[in-house]
Amino acid sequence: MPKKQNKNKPNSFRESVDQMVARAFRVLDLDPGVAAAIQACNEILQVKFPVDIRGRIEVFTGWRAVHSTHRLPAKGGIRYSPIVNQDQIEAMAALMTYKCAIVDVPFGGSKGGLLIDPHKYDRDELERITRRFAGELARKGFLSPATNVPAPDLGTGEREMAWIADTYKHLYPEDINYIGCVTGKPVGHGGIRGRNEATGRGVALGLREFFRHPEDVKAAGLSGGLGDKRVVIQGLGNVGYHTAKILRDEDNTKIVAIIERDGALLNDTGIAVDRVKNYMNEHGGVRGFPDAIYTDNGRAALELPCDILIPAAMEAQITAANAERIRAPLIAEAANGPITFEADRMLCERGVTILPDAFLNAGGVTVSYFEWIRNLTHMRFGRMERRWDEMRGQHVISAIEMLTSQTVPDWMRAEIVQGADELALVRSGLDDTMRLAYQEISETRRSDNKISDYRTAAYVIAVKKIARSYVELGVY
Ligand code: NAD
Repeated sequence: MPKKQNKNKPNSFRESVDQMVARAFRVLDLDPGVAAAIQACNEILQVKFPVDIRGRIEVFTGWRAVHSTHRLPAKGGIRYSPIVNQDQIEAMAALMTYKCAIVDVPFGGSKGGLLIDPHKYDRDELERITRRFAGELARKGFLSPATNVPAPDLGTGEREMAWIADTYKHLYPEDINYIGCVTGKPVGHGGIRGRNEATGRGVALGLREFFRHPEDVKAAGLSGGLGDKRVVIQGLGNVGYHTAKILRDEDNTKIVAIIERDGALLNDTGIAVDRVKNYMNEHGGVRGFPDAIYTDNGRAALELPCDILIPAAMEAQITAANAERIRAPLIAEAANGPITFEADRMLCERGVTILPDAFLNAGGVTVSYFEWIRNLTHMRFGRMERRWDEMRGQHVISAIEMLTSQTVPDWMRAEIVQGADELALVRSGLDDTMRLAYQEISETRRSDNKISDYRTAAYVIAVKKIARSYVELGVY
């Protein structure tokens, strides 16, 4: 069971996650032995390896934690960051275990990290470092399609995943499923359409489902739909960019502030997300972007009045130091662990509604699951049935036209005849996953008066599923 918390000491990320999950243990009155088994991180690998960089040897440190193997493979991203450490990696491996259980993805939880500032190295150097790291992970049993499958996270993307897959292939060419040793690959190298946007789309889909529940919306002190809401977002990387873009373009929300590493952009009438992203790609930051007010105090912009605050950058952005000043009634955790345990308690006491990371950013692992299945079947989704579905649609239209002696309009014909392609199927599967997970969380929160917040409800669902599997398998 978790340690007693010292209020003067800031929580470590892992302690924060453990303390949050402990609330679910108490609700469920879980056997302390089973609780300890669930919370323990099964394995942690630390590697140190040398790489020749511009004629000098540099030694890099990396980790891969496996929190649980009650389902295999264990799944979770790899991050490249100058502030990564073992505690953080263990915390996020645990989050992955709970996340997969919440959205019914049959994986265990894992996470990896490399202590590096990727901006300091060129493409060729990053490729050599990544390939060397992947080799270490594979040889030590921490990379394979059957047991441990990484994905992108902070500081990594499709490119790094393609290098990892290629390294594994050269080490184990006899593994027919080699391409499934990592997800988030480019589509041309075994990736799946829709993975790049998946985490951000999942955040938007989770929010859409929340706004389909008027009672929940009212309890959060909000009203109406998602469409007219004012959003502040922190981090315009993979997750933040897709979240903001989808919320703006498809849901009509207004992005009134974008917070990045070098400051924040503010504009009450809304900010064009694509233009900011292009500007960042060109200039390396947001400072100087026209059509918005710039402030170098990005952290303070988290406290701006808005309807929805979306931290999408990194952990521990809302702490006991700024929690009291947060003015958003709804916080949507797109990043992992953006709110510390203590801040979470303070916000909940003030009645702020928090949609938790372990649910809301699960779109990435959900579509990674689709990608892994696609890799194991060696075929893209929709390949077998798409034309068949189109033909059936044609037959239905012909029958209607024959029986009614009327012609079906072209636009209707096009919609009925259309067979689903891979992107449509992936988005549909993701939508279904986020809707069902939200409904289960909302229902759990309302049905038990010991639960008042969405995070505890989500963890209750996760812990129940994991505990059942531990007890049934007899591995506790
Ligand atoms: P990323 O590296 O693509 O983007 C992070 C962005 O945040 C960058 O634009 C960076 O400049 C900005 N940033 C960093 N520190 C900041 C700070 N202090 N203030 C403001 N902006 C800051 O990373 P990502 O993949 O988008 O991941 C973001 C978060 O989402 C992380 O917590 C990650 O663990 C989580 N997450 C990612 C995925 C995924 O599929 N990539 C899935 C689930 C969760």
